[in-house]
Amino acid sequence: MTLFDQVKDRLDLAFDPSDLETKYQFERDRRVRTDTDRQFIDIAETKEHEDKYHHDDPHMPVQHREAEAVELDFLIVGGGWVGMVAAARLKQSGYSNIRILDGAGDFGGVWYWNRYPGAQCDIQSYIYLPLLEETGYMPKERYSHAPEIFAYAQRLGRHFDLYDVARFHTWVSEMRWEENDSRWVVTTSRGDIYRSKYALVGTGSASRARLPDIPGLEDFTGETFHTSRWNYDFTGGGPSGGLQKLEDKRVAVIGTGASAVQVIPHIAASAKRTYVFQRTPSVIGERSNAPTDPDWFSSLKPGWQDALRQEFERALEGEPVTSPALQTEGFLEMSRNANKVISTVDPDGIVEDTLEEATVLADHMTMERLRSRVDHLVKSKERAEVLKPWYSYLCKRPTFHDEYLQAFNRPTVSLIDVADSKGVERITETGIVANGVEHDVDGIVFASGFEITSDFEKRMGIPIFGEEGKSLYEHWGAGMRTLHGIMSNGFPNLFIIGGLFTNTISPNYCTPIDGQVRHVVHLVDQLEERGALSAQPSEAAERDFMALQIDNATAASMRFGGTPETCTPGYYNQEGKALADRRDSRLETYPLGGEHYWKLLKKWRDAGNLAGLEVITEE
Ligand code: NDP
Repeated sequence: MTLFDQVKDRLDLAFDPSDLETKYQFERDRRVRTDTDRQFIDIAETKEHEDKYHHDDPHMPVQHREAEAVELDFLIVGGGWVGMVAAARLKQSGYSNIRILDGAGDFGGVWYWNRYPGAQCDIQSYIYLPLLEETGYMPKERYSHAPEIFAYAQRLGRHFDLYDVARFHTWVSEMRWEENDSRWVVTTSRGDIYRSKYALVGTGSASRARLPDIPGLEDFTGETFHTSRWNYDFTGGGPSGGLQKLEDKRVAVIGTGASAVQVIPHIAASAKRTYVFQRTPSVIGERSNAPTDPDWFSSLKPGWQDALRQEFERALEGEPVTSPALQTEGFLEMSRNANKVISTVDPDGIVEDTLEEATVLADHMTMERLRSRVDHLVKSKERAEVLKPWYSYLCKRPTFHDEYLQAFNRPTVSLIDVADSKGVERITETGIVANGVEHDVDGIVFASGFEITSDFEKRMGIPIFGEEGKSLYEHWGAGMRTLHGIMSNGFPNLFIIGGLFTNTISPNYCTPIDGQVRHVVHLVDQLEERGALSAQPSEAAERDFMALQIDNATAASMRFGGTPETCTPGYYNQEGKALADRRDSRLETYPLGGEHYWKLLKKWRDAGNLAGLEVITEE
């Protein structure tokens, strides 16, 4: 008897798992393209695209400054969370001769650039915003909106005196290890030359926009922009909406991922006509935001943020939660369902496979409920069908919104399903062609995402050369090669944090960042104490860590990103590439989960012998 047969009556399950699997396969096949991740334009290929979608800053004019040539102890690339937390913790540890470089005009990383109406963080602010205990800041809401997050980044900058060491509107052109005197030489778009003992790259996972390579894109004569470079001159209004300049305009949105879900309700509320071009619908859970309860917040004891972050991580792996903040957390719906399934069966009958089967059932239960939510909120039955996601819960980043689905009840909003043509067909001088019909529009918003899982060089956008002039990307080849996801052989004194290697399958990007930064600061302290000139993982240590990642890649850890059978294409699965053709994503994560990873790093630090590192000292 299958687990489903055991629990279906007790849990009142009205679906048939094999029907769902067939439907998922059908929906996947409708969308998968032979050109997989080559369907997107590499914006670095033309200066015009690179400027418009990456370098140009719509938020702040670039101020003149003199180029500098400076010797440093620590150079940090990126002024988002990684760079800020690293600089803050390095300063706490007594390092002051540092620089933080960022192409933006201020701190904040994605929260500097992404100012589109409705932008909000889908992770609870209490576990997302870094260093809350150190700053004593109480987030206004459970899920913060972008302006508050950006302001908090600025607060962090002031709190830790980071503005003095930051150079904004500064793009790194190249990083090169100079073996003769063990320094990273870093050049920039502003003519700077930095020579630094240590370098840390924290350029984030969603920092380079990507555009679908739609025929005719260059012919369009109206306005176009990407969600991460919002054009308020065109739309009017601000981050909380009120886009009054759209009242006489027809606007197209290409994409229905996490950014589109937040922005579409605002466009729909203002524009004369809104055309949403949807290839794959997102999963839309309830947002249920709420103001922070000051009594609860002031009752939190020292160490609360780490504790809450760990509780969230454990809950994702199925452990029960005790904190009130996490009781109804949307990201935990699947874990709650898995626990429901497990608690329904006889404990003596639970074998290893039961947990895997329970996860699959929990996935179906979650998706069925979320599909029924679409029926509940969307008046037109036909539209509701188009808006239903038919895939496993973790095939795409789940989203949460309380007004998105209702936007499709407005008579001014058209939903255009482009799944059968595997994307928008064509762009003309005046509009967009889909399913053979041309829709004239005044502007196109590209909510088409970022280079998150594409080729390493494309994602990071910075040439990095280590010993003997070897490129980091050449070294990594078809999969990251690291010790602990942080350092690579042949690239001494270089730390890479966040973005690429998130080490746990956590939707909270900030938990691994802070843990890895603390690890790096400890390591640098140790190297300095030993009078080290440089350190890098040995080839063997790198190989052993990779073997650990590969050997332990369980079905559950590979579930994220999806199996070819159940997942529609997306950046989690390299746009639906067959497993054999994918870069080895097993090397971009730590398969045994966060708890295990933190214990591994702690054990390594406690041993105190810098195991696996080749350290060169001064004598
Ligand atoms: P995504 O990559 O998630 O979405 C891109 C969208 O563009 C998809 O809907 C995709 O469709 C669509 N698309 C691409 N090419 C075409 C085409 N040729 N024709 C039609 N549609 C097309 O990008 P987002 O910016 O939405 O989100 C990126 C990530 O940023 C999120 O997953 C999340 O991690 C993060 N984010 C986080 C937020 C937060 O709250 N913390 C908020 C916003 C973003 P298809 O799915 O079919 O490929």
